[in-house]
Amino acid sequence: MSSDDTTTSGEPTEASDFLREQIRADLSAGTYQGRVKTRFPPEPNGFLHIGHAMSICLNFGLADEFDGTCNLRFDDTNPETENEEFVRAIIEDVEWLGFTSDDEVYYASNYFGQMYQWAEDLINKGLAYVDDSDSETISEMRGGFTTPGQDSPFRDRSIEENLDLFRRMRAGEFADGERVLRAKIDMNHENMQMRDPVMYRIRNLPHHRTGDDWPIYPNYDWAHGQEDAIEGVTHSICTLEFDNNRELYDWYHNNIDLPFEKPNQWEFARLNLTHTVTSKRKLAQLVEDGIAAGWDDAIMPTISGVRRRGFPAKAIRDFCAHIGVAKSNSVREIELLESFVRDELNTIAPRRSAVLRPLKVVIENYPEGQVEMREAVNHPGDESFGTREVPFSREIYIEQDDFEEDPPPKYYRLTVGREVRLRFGYFITCTGLVKDDDGNIVELRATYDPETSGGSAPDGRKVKSTIHWVSAAEAVDATVVLYDRLFTAEHPTADGADPMDSLNPNAKEVIEGAKLEPSLAELPQGDVVQFERTGYFAHDLDTPMLFHRTVGLRDEWARLQKRKG
Ligand code: ATP
Ligand code: MG
Repeated sequence: MSSDDTTTSGEPTEASDFLREQIRADLSAGTYQGRVKTRFPPEPNGFLHIGHAMSICLNFGLADEFDGTCNLRFDDTNPETENEEFVRAIIEDVEWLGFTSDDEVYYASNYFGQMYQWAEDLINKGLAYVDDSDSETISEMRGGFTTPGQDSPFRDRSIEENLDLFRRMRAGEFADGERVLRAKIDMNHENMQMRDPVMYRIRNLPHHRTGDDWPIYPNYDWAHGQEDAIEGVTHSICTLEFDNNRELYDWYHNNIDLPFEKPNQWEFARLNLTHTVTSKRKLAQLVEDGIAAGWDDAIMPTISGVRRRGFPAKAIRDFCAHIGVAKSNSVREIELLESFVRDELNTIAPRRSAVLRPLKVVIENYPEGQVEMREAVNHPGDESFGTREVPFSREIYIEQDDFEEDPPPKYYRLTVGREVRLRFGYFITCTGLVKDDDGNIVELRATYDPETSGGSAPDGRKVKSTIHWVSAAEAVDATVVLYDRLFTAEHPTADGADPMDSLNPNAKEVIEGAKLEPSLAELPQGDVVQFERTGYFAHDLDTPMLFHRTVGLRDEWARLQKRKG
């Protein structure tokens, strides 16, 4: 897979899209005196998912490309759902993806004091008021797209009364929900966001960073743009659903004293993937319901999950660069993401031998007790990977499905009476089989031809297939996990569907007792190798000898393209 707008390093070259054009225009007009500053602003209420990776690559990527900076800033304005574990995980994920945030991490909660001051400024200008209405009343009185809103009976409070009440809100004199601070804009505004939006709500809850300092917390719109302004962000990039919030973003900036030039908000299409959900709330449910062992389970489409699964960071960056910035929402195929993973792993992953579902073969004419070392190449396409030695002996394991007692037509692998090549080994011929009392095949008998040590027969006879194997006595045991689509539905949330209804019961298959070549006992945890003929596998980050199949070998993306014609 290659795309015209990515180089082998995955960095965009002269990429052009509406955002880059905008930045170039701002630079040449001197709008921000040559500054380019973006931010990635996660709320620490869950782990990051693959959709966030898109935003990270975009924001940090643009900063890199235009000699600017990008802040990793936590939008930590809701103490109910946020915590330090999520903060730590997010920092780790961003770094793993290959980006650093100016060596400093930013927090919205550091600005609570400044935001509060600005809120008093708005009150003093007659542009904000304390409303004693409860949240249902406020929402009813906002009206709808076709009905006008109604003014709150508290809308015309004096500046003095508003200041007094707001200060008492801040001092913790009121219970949750008793009052809110609202911007005073226009209850008949055609944009619903502008109908006197709530700026502060009362929440008598400790915050993971500010403790008990604040009984009031800013709402998203009041917080976000002001955070941008405080940090001197120039291009504030968010997803399309915030389109309607832009007017409010600007209104706040136009009515307070900013330390820098006014930042601008730009919207782009969020990344959606087939057979996947990219919503923290829905991912949280997978954890709560025990479908996943945690946010970083290899089954999860979180950044931590796919890292455990073996996805290289570069493959994710390349995928995001390939997709680029769009102005309208669409869903991308998960097969496309996987093909970036496969392509990258094909380049970087050494080859190894592993038998997932072992069937023993006894080679009867091979001397008992003898072990010979066979030379195996580590990468058929790249000599720099070198070679290694793997033991060969009288008893080996092959895959159960590389043998058929009654082979169907065109089945060229092992059956009684047939000769095949062992990869890096000899030709063997199956001579018989052993069954247990239940009729299951438990062992094969075979002979080998010592003349075929070089992988071919001196008399020129051919075999139609080559199978992999491991020597039985030296093999190491492992647990191997295979993954299928997490959701059977291509679009698990389409038309308001509950994704849990299409959860794939076979999303995960655990195979105990896989047999691996001995060198794999030394493989560092976190490393990914190709098990020849079965896929790419990652050695689990925490549990030794647990392997996750990252992706299979077949190019599903090409198949999908062909099918779509
Ligand atoms: P979720 O719906 O999963 O809770 P969110 O947007 O609420 O996501 P935030 O932590 O607020 O999560 O998001 C941080 C940043 O990531 C925001 O700028 C948001 O626009 C961006 N982002 C979130 N999801 C996606 C996505 N699927 N594609 C691109 N960007 C995304
Ligand atoms: Mg959010």
